[in-house]
Amino acid sequence: MVSVGRGVAAQEDLALVDELAAALEAEVGCTRPVAEGSGWMARERYIGVSGALLKPDLFVAVGLSGQIQHMVGANSAKTIVAVNKDKNAPVFKQCDYGIVADLYEVLPKLSAALGA
Ligand SMILES: Cc1cc2nc3c(=O)[nH]c(=O)nc-3n(C[C@H](O)[C@H](O)[C@H](O)COP(=O)(O)OP(=O)(O)OC[C@H]3O[C@@H](n4cnc5c(N)ncnc54)[C@H](O)[C@@H]3O)c2cc1C
Repeated sequence: MVSVGRGVAAQEDLALVDELAAALEAEVGCTRPVAEGSGWMARERYIGVSGALLKPDLFVAVGLSGQIQHMVGANSAKTIVAVNKDKNAPVFKQCDYGIVADLYEVLPKLSAALGA
């Protein structure tokens, strides 16, 4: 599962997330503001206490802060990887691997490394 948050600046930029998910053969989810605030993704796609609760092998958190209401839907994952440009983002206290970086720089590189 790849979950995306408000770190994505425009709806069309979700293509970067789709590309990474395709390379991982993963589904794409999101935080509640991405679905209910901006309406960029279907409500069924948001993860958390009031959304979907998951137990994936891998959860990649992209541009999301890691608020508890979101992470309760994800923290049963076997492995959590986070990408966030703010090194103090709470998500880094909840992940197994953290990448402090701009998602716009790192996602294309991750996808390319995975053969996308
Ligand atoms: C009663 C209640 C229930 C809720 N239920 C849910 C729920 O079920 N699911 C849910 O998701 N939320 C839920 N919420 C909302 C939740 O509290 C958070 O507000 C929400 O999850 C935050 O979404 P976010 O991480 O996308 O946004 P933000 O908290 O705004 O985080 C965005 C992150 O993106 C990072 N970022 C910005 N630009 C970039 C970039 N270029 N590259 C990398 N990183 C970047 C920032 O550093 C920041 O950490 C609920 C809230 C309440 C009050």
